[in-house]
Amino acid sequence: MTHPFLDLAPLSAVHFAAIEDRVARLLDTEQDVVIMQGEALLPLEGAIRSTAGPGTVALNVITGPYGQTFGDWLRDCGAEVIDLAVPFHTAVTADRIRAAFEARPEIDFVSLVHAEAATGNTNPVAEIGEVVRAHGALFYLDAVASIGAEPVLPDAWGVDLCVIGAQKAMGGPAGVSAVSVSARAWTRMTSNPGAPRRSYLSLLDWKDRWTDAGRKALPHAPAQLEMLALEACVERIESEGLDTVMRRHAVAAAATRAGALALGGGLEPYVHDASEAAPVATTLRTPPGTIASELVARALASDPTLPLVAGGGALAKEMIRVNHYGVDATVTVVQRCLAALGAAMESTHSITDA
Ligand SMILES: *Cc1c(COP(=O)(O)O)cnc(C)c1O
Repeated sequence: MTHPFLDLAPLSAVHFAAIEDRVARLLDTEQDVVIMQGEALLPLEGAIRSTAGPGTVALNVITGPYGQTFGDWLRDCGAEVIDLAVPFHTAVTADRIRAAFEARPEIDFVSLVHAEAATGNTNPVAEIGEVVRAHGALFYLDAVASIGAEPVLPDAWGVDLCVIGAQKAMGGPAGVSAVSVSARAWTRMTSNPGAPRRSYLSLLDWKDRWTDAGRKALPHAPAQLEMLALEACVERIESEGLDTVMRRHAVAAAATRAGALALGGGLEPYVHDASEAAPVATTLRTPPGTIASELVARALASDPTLPLVAGGGALAKEMIRVNHYGVDATVTVVQRCLAALGAAMESTHSITDA
C-alpha cells in the first residue's frame, strides 16, 4: 500500500533548483538563494560561521532572544562583538546604528533580526540598510518571522545574507529554510579561512558543489518531504497573493492590539508603538498581579487549538504571545484568542476575590 508521505519519488536536481528560484522570486532577489535542509537555525548559524572570524568587528543588534544567540556564535568565531541592545518593547532605530558606526568605524559586520516573534517587535530594515551600506559593512538579517507577514527585500535594502524559514507567516514546514547570499557575502566567505567546509553548516560547499556547478547534481539526497512542503507553501502564497497574505497578518495584529485594549482589565500591547509592532505575532503585557503563563494555561484549557503562548524565560510572567501567523492570521482566530483570555482574566478575578 502506498502512503502519501512515504514512497516518494526522489526529488530531481531540476525540481530542487525550481523551488530555489521560486523562493528567490518571493524575496524579489537576484542573489543566489541556497535552500538549507534544516530548521532556520541551520542557515542562521552557517551564515555567521561562514562570514565572521578573528578580525571581524561585529555590531550585533539585540531586540529579542535571537540577537543574543547571534552574539554568542560571533564571539565563538573569534569576532569582536559590540552588542547593541534595546528594550524588548521597542525597535532599534537607524540613528542608533549610525551612532554605533561613528563610535567604531571599523565595524564590518551587522547582525539584525527583522521581526521577533518572541518579543513582537519589528525593526526598520530599509533605513538601517542605508546606514550599513554607507559604511560598507556586511549586513546579516534574520527574516524568519517577517517573511510573509511584511515586505522582505534583500536587494532593495542591501542585505547580504537574508535568512528565512517557512514555519511562521509562510504557513509552511519548519524543517527547511533558505538564505539569499550576495556576491559580497560570497567573497567574504571565500577569504575566510575559518568558514566551514565539508560540513553541514557550510554554505561554501553548496556554492562549489551546487550553485557554481550549474545546479545539475545535488550534493546529497534532498529532504523531499520538506522540499515538497516548501514548494506547496510558496505556491499557496503565490495563489493567494503575497500582498494579501501580508495584509491578513497586518489586520490580525491591529485587531489584537485594539481588542486587548478594548477588553480592559489591564491587558495591553507589549510593544508600545504600533509602528514598531511586528505583524507576524502580537505580544501583550499582563496586568500587574497576573502571571502570563497561568493566564495562557487557563485560556488553552478552554480551547487547546488557540495560538497562544507565554513569553520565554523571565518573560513568562508578564508576556503573552498571540501567534496569529500562517493560517491563524485571521480576525476570527484573534477574536477567539481574546475571548479566551478575557474569560481567563475573569476567572482569575473571581478566584482572587473569593
Ligand atoms: C521563529 C524564529 C526563528 C526560528 O527558530 P525556532 O525557535 O526554531 O522557531 C528564528 N528567528 C526568529 C526571529 C524567529 O522568530
